[in-house]
Amino acid sequence: MSRKRVLVTGGAGFLGSHLCDRLIKEDYHVIAMDNLITGNLSNIEHLFQLENFEFYHHDVSKFVHIPGKLDYILHFASPASPIDYLKIPIQTLKVGSLGTHNLLGLARNKNARMLIASTSEVYGDPLVHPQTEDYWGNVNPVGPRGCYDEAKRFQEAMTMAYHMHHGLETRIVRIFNTYGPRMRLNDGRVLPAFLSQALRGEPLSIFGDGSQTRSFCYVDDLIEGIYRLLLSDYAYPVNIGNPSEITIKQFAEEICKLTGVELKLEYQPLPKDDPQKRQPDITKAREVLGWEPQVGREEGLRRTLEYFKENIHVEPKEARS
Ligand code: NAD
Repeated sequence: MSRKRVLVTGGAGFLGSHLCDRLIKEDYHVIAMDNLITGNLSNIEHLFQLENFEFYHHDVSKFVHIPGKLDYILHFASPASPIDYLKIPIQTLKVGSLGTHNLLGLARNKNARMLIASTSEVYGDPLVHPQTEDYWGNVNPVGPRGCYDEAKRFQEAMTMAYHMHHGLETRIVRIFNTYGPRMRLNDGRVLPAFLSQALRGEPLSIFGDGSQTRSFCYVDDLIEGIYRLLLSDYAYPVNIGNPSEITIKQFAEEICKLTGVELKLEYQPLPKDDPQKRQPDITKAREVLGWEPQVGREEGLRRTLEYFKENIHVEPKEARS
C-alpha cells in the first residue's frame, strides 16, 4: 500500500522538524515546506537522504501548490517567539491569515485533513486560571503581541469556518510553552535565555519581580499529543501543554541547580502585555486523546541542556524581549 502523504509547513523549525521526525517514524511520506525566516535546515538535514522526505523552500503566505495526493496538512509555519514576531509583525499576520487560507484551500482541493498549530496566546493575559478551551481570552489587539495573538485567533476562526461551512476535516491544537532540543538558544523566551545565561556564567535576567508563572512542556510529549489529535475525530480546540506551573524566580533557581552555577539574578522591567499566569487545563486532552505529559521538568531540562551545551558556541548572543 502506498504511504500516506503529509505536508508539514514550518518543517525546518523547532516543532515542525520534530513532527517530521515522528511522521517519518510512522512511515508517512513527509513534505516539509519552509521559507527559513526563523527555521534552519540543520534541523532536518538528517532526513534529506530519505526517499519518503521532500523539502520545498517556499513562503506559504503565497500560493501553495503540491503535486499529487495529500492526506494531511499540518500548518506550523509562523514566527513563534516574541523576539521574532516583534521584528516581523506583518509576515506573522500574513502567515496566520493568508497562509492559513491558502492551506485550507489546498486541503479542500486535495480532500486532506488539516491541523493548525494554535497557541495559548489566544488566551492573552488570561483572567481565568488555569485556561480551559472554552475561555475566550483577554487579548489586546493593538498591543505589541497583537500581531501574533490575533493572527492565531483569526487562524482558528478561518479553520472553523472551513469545517462548518465546507465540512473540511480540521483539527486545532492550542500549544503551551514547549521546549527541547532544536529550540533556538537566542529565541528570547525565558527557558533558552536562562539556560544560555547559566552556561555563559552570566546573571539570569528576571523581568518584573519574577512572581509571574509559566509551565513548560517537553517537546516529545507535545508531539505525541499532536499526533493523537491528528488521528482523532475531534474538531474543536485542544490544549496541549504541561500543567506543572512554576514562578520565574523558582525556575531561575532550578536552572542554576541543574547547571551547577551560583544563583545570580538581574532584575529588569516587565515588558508590556507580558502574561502574569500561564497554565493549561488538559482535561480535554486527557478525555479525548488519553494524553498527558510523561516527561518531568528535571528530565526534560537535562536533555535540553545537552543540546544547548553542544550548540552554545554556534548561535550569537541576543537580547531577550
Ligand atoms: P520556529 O520559529 O522554530 O518554527 C516556525 C517555522 O515556520 C520556521 O522554520 C520558519 O522559517 C517557518 N515559517 C515562518 N513563516 C513562514 C512562511 N510564511 N512560509 C513558510 N515557512 C514559514 O517556531 P516553533 O516554536 O517551531 O513554532 C511552530 C508553530 O507552533 C508556530 O505556528 C507557533 O505559533 C506554534 N507554537 C509554538 C509554541 C512553542 O512553545 N514553541 C507555542 C505555541 C504555539
